Amino acid sequence: MLADAIQCEALPEFEDNYLWVMSNSLRQAIIVDPGDAQLVLEQIKGGLKPVAIFVTHHHADHIGGIAELAKHCNAPIYAPLDERIPIATHRVSHDQQIFVPELDLQFRVMAVPGHTRSHVAYYGAGHLFCGDTLFSLGCGRLFEGSPEQMLHSLDVISTLPAETRICCSHEYTLANARFAEAAEPDNPERDSLILRIREKRAQNQSSLPSRLDIELACNPFLRSDQTRLWPLWSRESGHMIQNRLQAFTALRAWKDNFRL
Ligand SMILES: [Zn+2]
Repeated sequence: MLADAIQCEALPEFEDNYLWVMSNSLRQAIIVDPGDAQLVLEQIKGGLKPVAIFVTHHHADHIGGIAELAKHCNAPIYAPLDERIPIATHRVSHDQQIFVPELDLQFRVMAVPGHTRSHVAYYGAGHLFCGDTLFSLGCGRLFEGSPEQMLHSLDVISTLPAETRICCSHEYTLANARFAEAAEPDNPERDSLILRIREKRAQNQSSLPSRLDIELACNPFLRSDQTRLWPLWSRESGHMIQNRLQAFTALRAWKDNFRL
């Protein structure tokens, strides 16, 4: 199987979720985070053949379709060990390798706690399925993890190759853009990214996948090492900043209360 025969597509579900489908020319497919079974069942009627299901974390908009889907296809279901994800055939953990023979692709599991404590991401074929950990121009809310855990998770993601396609689970990019502009007023590369994304969204196209090098240059949550921004983040959040962790903590706290 040639790598260029692999396609990766974001299917919109619910208000602003994406279900990711990575498929080959035979339409054998990896399904990531099926929140809505109906959406996948329609694809199956159209010829899609799920051969693996990847689950990033336990939230209902990511796992809601698994039980129904499991009745209609017997693809292996990979998920982190968490009792809140009741159905899985394989429980995965950090650094585990998953081979999907139908697509001849290998994926690496990455533990990325922060949004939830058992959140994982899947990296393979130049793509990262990162669930609600990293968004374009933003990152997930810290429902269960600490800022330290989330910063570490984002640091691990940041070591992937620059051209890695970032497949996030929500279309939050333009909403995040407003905060990114406030958090780093002077970033021309980010400004031109926002212009490109506005054009795509105006034509109802997804802003995703993003690319790691673009996020490293534009996403404030990957830029807590930019000391020149610390006085602003400190002032806006009311947190004192003397190191990267304090900078990230302040930025996340500011975003949680950010209103335009
Ligand atoms: Zn979530």
